Amino acid sequence: MSNQISNQNFPIARPEWIEAYAASNPMEANMLVGLLQSAGLEAGLRGPGMAGALGEVPVDALITRIFVPAEQRAQARDILHHYETATPDEWQCSACGELNGGSFELCWQCGTDRP
Ligand SMILES: [Zn+2]
Repeated sequence: MSNQISNQNFPIARPEWIEAYAASNPMEANMLVGLLQSAGLEAGLRGPGMAGALGEVPVDALITRIFVPAEQRAQARDILHHYETATPDEWQCSACGELNGGSFELCWQCGTDRP
């Protein structure tokens, strides 16, 4: 028995790094680490959500903490804050009233142009 396989895809935080954010699950955490890395920062994960079968743990055990080097924390927090406060740019169709995501230019329900 080993956790090696389930941890394989996650970047592991170094012991001296400090916490920057607690993501609600390992998938979100992994995505946010990718976001930080694409901004040129180092980041990694540590936490109970990384080990074991996801179906067998309580919800709060999925919380996965993101760690970064101390000197990059302010920058990381800034990026993560933008992520946290980004509101989906939803719009309501004038024809059928359907709510559409900001990336849609047409109503997905009836095909009417975005107002
Ligand atoms: Zn519509």
